[in-house]
Parts: sequence; C-alpha cells; structure tokens
Amino acid sequence: MSGAPVIVAVDGPSASGKSTISRMVAQRLGCNYVDSGAMYRAVTWKALEEKLDAGNAEQIVAMLRRIKIDFEIVTGAAQMRINGVFPGDAIRAPQVAEKVSLVAAIPEVRHVLVEQQRSLIRFGGLVMEGRDIGSVVFPETPHKFYIDANASERAKRRQQDFAAMKIETNTAGVAQALAQRDKLDSSRAVAPLQVAPGATVVDNSTNTPEQTVQIILDTIAQQQRHPRRGAQFIA
Ligand code: C5P
Repeated sequence: MSGAPVIVAVDGPSASGKSTISRMVAQRLGCNYVDSGAMYRAVTWKALEEKLDAGNAEQIVAMLRRIKIDFEIVTGAAQMRINGVFPGDAIRAPQVAEKVSLVAAIPEVRHVLVEQQRSLIRFGGLVMEGRDIGSVVFPETPHKFYIDANASERAKRRQQDFAAMKIETNTAGVAQALAQRDKLDSSRAVAPLQVAPGATVVDNSTNTPEQTVQIILDTIAQQQRHPRRGAQFIA
C-alpha cells in the first residue's frame, strides 16, 4: 500500500443514509468526514440571507466572488465558513433545501466548490459524501460507493431529521420535496447524480448503519488487497 491518504467517495440520493454511514466510516478509518452537500447548502443559505434569487446565476456568481470560504476541522469533520461564519443548522432549513438544487446546477458554483473539496486533502485522508464525488471530484480513487434506499424509507429518514430539529413537516410534503430535488440533481447538465464508473452500489433500505459500514470497510480492505477490482452490487 502506498502512503497516499485514503479517499473514500460516497454518493447517492438525498436521505439515503449516506451522512450517517460516511461519518462512521471516517471514524473507523481515522479520516476526516466531508459533507459536500453542506457546502452547496451554505452557499444557498448565504444567497437567501442576501435576499438574492437562487435561480439567477449572475447574482449567485457575483456573490461567490465577494465571499471568503475557508474550512476548519472540528471533531473529525470539515466545517465550511463563509466570511468567518459557520452557518450551522440554518443550512438544513426547508427554505434552503428547496433552492439548493438550483444553486448547485450553476457551473461556476460547482467549479469553485469542487476546487475547495479537492483542496481538503491537505488535512489528510477523507471520506467525502455527495452526488459527484466518485464521478467528478475524486474520479481516480478506487474506493467509490453509491448508497441507495427506497423512496419511502428516505422520506421517513428525512422527516425524522426535521423532527429532531423541531421543524414541522408532513410525510407527503417531505416525499415530494425529496423527489423534486432528486429529479433536478439527476437531470442537470453538469455533474448529475449518477453511479460513478467502478462504484460499489449498496442498498441501504433495510440495513442497519453498522451493516452498511461493515460492507464498505470490507470492500475497501479487499480493494487494498486486490487493486483494480471491478464494480459490485450489494443488496
Ligand atoms: O447531501 P445534501 O442533500 O445535503 O445536498 C444538498 C444538495 O446539494 C443536493 O440536493 C444537490 O443539489 C447538491 N449537491 C451537489 N453535489 C454534491 C453534493 C450536493 O450538487 N456533491
């Protein structure tokens, strides 16, 4: 094995469980955890704070040129600051979720954030979750995973997240918002959500987090013993 830092790419649709899984895998591997979706959300949050139109690429790109982005590692996770401020849970608000796919579809936004994501390797090994980590951000890593789960399970999980944050929602509304965001994320022209070539697909609908984490750790160990093994599908 080389001494290069380990990079694990975890992609998948909204609320498939990839955040929980990625955090646990990072902890087990002694790597930093990076939530790339939080970066797109933070830029969206800032745009809404400034009362910009999230669908107006010119306004968003002008804002992106004005703001300063930096990172700090806090208990094993990369946290993005905008102009020195951590947005915290504000990025999880339904208003941000509603607009984030519009902001994430702007090519210049993706360019800036992908560069930032790649630069995080300066902190060492990474487990990074998102939509295009295996396909665009780190296409050369052998450790690529696509975490999926059925739509009703994903809606249930997202509703539990909102309940934990004391945000009132209803099941039908949550399911509809997730479906809408997945549609936008999968159909956009730049870096759409897809199974990256060579990714191992894991269906996380009925697994416990520990089961999925174990599948990922076993796959990484196997890939390190036998470099260049092909893709796998694990139900
Ligand atoms: O993962 P999360 O649901 O927090 O991501 C929020 C949004 O950020 C996604 O719906 C998608 O539009 C965007 N995103 C992206 N590329 C990534 C991660 C997230 O476009 N790598």
